[in-house]
Amino acid sequence: MALRPGPAGDRVTAVTAPPALRDTLCIEWGACPPGCRDCVEACALARGVARVTALDLAEVSFHGALTCGQCGEPACRDACPTGAIVREESGVVRLDQERCVGCGACAGACAWGGITLDAVTGRASKCDTCGGRPACALACTTGRLRWVETSALARRLGHPDPFTQGVSLCPGCAAELGFRTAFRAIGPDAVVFAAPGCACMLACGLGTAATTRLPSVMSLMTNVPSLMTGVARQLRRSGARTRAVAFVGDGTTADVGFQPLSGAAERGEPIVYICYDNEGYMNTGAQRSSTTLQGARTMTTPVGPGQAGKRQVPKDVAVLMAMHGAAYVATASVSHPEDFAAKLERALAAEDGLAYIHLYAPCHVGWQAPMDAAVEIARMAVLTRVFPLWEARRGRFRLTHPIAHPRPLGDFAGLMGRLRHLDEDGLRALGRAVEERYRRVEALCAALPWQEPGAAGGR
Ligand code: SF4
Repeated sequence: MALRPGPAGDRVTAVTAPPALRDTLCIEWGACPPGCRDCVEACALARGVARVTALDLAEVSFHGALTCGQCGEPACRDACPTGAIVREESGVVRLDQERCVGCGACAGACAWGGITLDAVTGRASKCDTCGGRPACALACTTGRLRWVETSALARRLGHPDPFTQGVSLCPGCAAELGFRTAFRAIGPDAVVFAAPGCACMLACGLGTAATTRLPSVMSLMTNVPSLMTGVARQLRRSGARTRAVAFVGDGTTADVGFQPLSGAAERGEPIVYICYDNEGYMNTGAQRSSTTLQGARTMTTPVGPGQAGKRQVPKDVAVLMAMHGAAYVATASVSHPEDFAAKLERALAAEDGLAYIHLYAPCHVGWQAPMDAAVEIARMAVLTRVFPLWEARRGRFRLTHPIAHPRPLGDFAGLMGRLRHLDEDGLRALGRAVEERYRRVEALCAALPWQEPGAAGGR
């Protein structure tokens, strides 16, 4: 624990060091496609005996993989009478088969099916994560079984929290989470630009309420990139490493302030522009914006006789920005912080032009969902292909999270009130629009494939 001066200077803020995070296998319980055994076969091929089990329990609708979760306090270790199981400093719970006598106490103690007795050897068998490249996760194309590099995420988000005490946004706000993630990754060498909207209260505060510890500029909705252009040029002229970074909403970006953004991209201004997309004008009562999802109920796209929510498909601002040939463009989601943090690194590295990140940040208030639902909605948007994750450098594309087997759209729509009115026809229409958008990104990736900076033909 370290102490540092608080924002008022006369107080101190306790800063607790984050716990050491370790890379880990992450399983989405019971969500595998029925009959899929890709992980089991890959593990058996790599390790001789499969250390992951696929369960197909149709009667209780459970289809899923089971393997060791490398518990912090492993029950198997505590139950083993010979000391054959230890938890290493790396976080891996390791089994020494030479010391195993095949009593089965470990398998009986594990509530998760993470350790089993091998019928051939008569000894215990369990996952050891393949030294950090688990064959099962590499083989899983559905995303239900993943290797999550949390240690890399902890390194990427290594800067202090950007806020002073207390934040005045709604509890559970995804925009706040996105702001924290962004500036823990970017660090203190930044001037934050905000415009009227929810996040201006994060960047510039509200009365005496909390604000960011970083220098910030409050702009109009119509001129954020123009203001940034002047500040960024002066910063460069003075030799400062400080970057101009916008954190503004979709109303400012896609509607009111699109023209100056387009101009700054065309001129190649070296600014970093993050649009947090909550699909509407949320701080004035949840009116629709041009990024609002087709079919969504908002204050200005009601549901009733003659209208069933928004009629138009959302404007794809990120693709429009990529079509400018911007130095770097990406989509990101608050549900995938490791992907967001990696993209922020690439955005900061793209100093030869404008970097644009379109961050999916559901507003649980405007989307009529429970207070703790925003991250799960964002995750489902990725898994159902509603919000594809991709990046482009100078108009060269790649998907960063391809979704080979999308979840049913109902898994996303059912999480929020704004889409609950959709019947089967409405969901089908939305599904067609979602698929068309995903296919467009896939086609761009195929036609204009990603090139690493410095590679032949890359810039
Ligand atoms: S209205 Fe939505 S986006 Fe705005 S602060 Fe509240 S939860 Fe966040």
